[in-house]
Amino acid sequence: MIDRPSPNFGPRRDGLRPSIVVLHYTAMSSAEAAIQRLCDPEAQVSAHYVVCRSGAITRLVAEDQRAWHAGEGEWRGQQDINSRSVGIELDNTGDHPFPEPQMAALEGLLQRIMERWDIAPENVIGHSDMAPGRKSDPGPRFDWTRLARQGLAAQAGYEEGPGAPDCTLFRRIARDAGFTADVDHETLLAAVRLRFRPHATGPLAPEDFTPLGHAALWT
Ligand SMILES: [Zn+2]
Repeated sequence: MIDRPSPNFGPRRDGLRPSIVVLHYTAMSSAEAAIQRLCDPEAQVSAHYVVCRSGAITRLVAEDQRAWHAGEGEWRGQQDINSRSVGIELDNTGDHPFPEPQMAALEGLLQRIMERWDIAPENVIGHSDMAPGRKSDPGPRFDWTRLARQGLAAQAGYEEGPGAPDCTLFRRIARDAGFTADVDHETLLAAVRLRFRPHATGPLAPEDFTPLGHAALWT
């Protein structure tokens, strides 16, 4: 662990403790460029950690402080995600896979954070989950299934979706899964697909319900 303290942080509001982990990609050409930006007072952004492609982890902000990575958005009905979360930036431009050493380092880091703050796998999310339409990181190439298998992210459901996929029911089930940000139907569907079915296209399908679980609601 390398320390590169960023000036871009403040106290968590209302005495909040981390209950969410938000994963991002840096969308920059190198980890060093990203770290410099996240430490630049002019940029007004930061994260708690940056995980490099080699697996090296840089800490920019202490976990008990509020880093500035999430911005506007909502998850499970809660706002001010910065006060409620630990933010992890993955060194990735957005158009290439995440290498093995980086994934392994992320998994170790996640395990420690989740233990320290008693964070549930269902609250390890992508930036795009809490800011649908506005953000698309960590993007379609991120391997959520790998994290879920280890209990480091929500398990996807496996039951067949409803015979007649209905937008209102989809919205309700997506809300139950945490996707509560107030967005239109297309944007919500795109966010859920980015997380669970990144290569899916076309109108709402039964398969869009499956990963969200809750089959009791349509059977
Ligand atoms: Zn982000």
